[in-house]
Amino acid sequence: MRTPRSAKTSSSRMLLSVFLALFLPCAGMSAVFLIYTCLLWYAANCSQSQPVPGSVPEKPAKGEGLSESELEKLPRVTGKDLVMGTDCAVCLDEIGGDDPARLVPGCNHGFHLQCGDTWLSKHSVCPVCRAKLEPELFDPSEANPC
Ligand SMILES: [Zn+2]
Ligand SMILES: [Zn+2]
Repeated sequence: MRTPRSAKTSSSRMLLSVFLALFLPCAGMSAVFLIYTCLLWYAANCSQSQPVPGSVPEKPAKGEGLSESELEKLPRVTGKDLVMGTDCAVCLDEIGGDDPARLVPGCNHGFHLQCGDTWLSKHSVCPVCRAKLEPELFDPSEANPC
């Protein structure tokens, strides 16, 4: 003797298992997708604010270069006065003995006048050793109070 109740129960159980079988993988995949998207977004935000050290040369923020008047205060020498070698690190050419050259105060690295000024007007660091050009280097009276 079969009752309709038991048939109904088994069919609803089957529906439930079918529902679970369809829903659970979908929910799982959605969760994984969401987490993955979050991770990508997080990684993108992170890499923007904190570049991986070593892989990309550090770029000073915009407007950190030297002004024309600051460039004028930098030592201006000729190739024969350079003590740290006569290879210009900007254009990789040699600085001739009579070529005008720009000397970076502090580390004494030298470059063609044109090359050095072009670089230093955009970056206030030495292109060779990345030494920062501190403002006091432009004012000899402050550097040497006596
Ligand atoms: Zn040069
Ligand atoms: Zn230097």
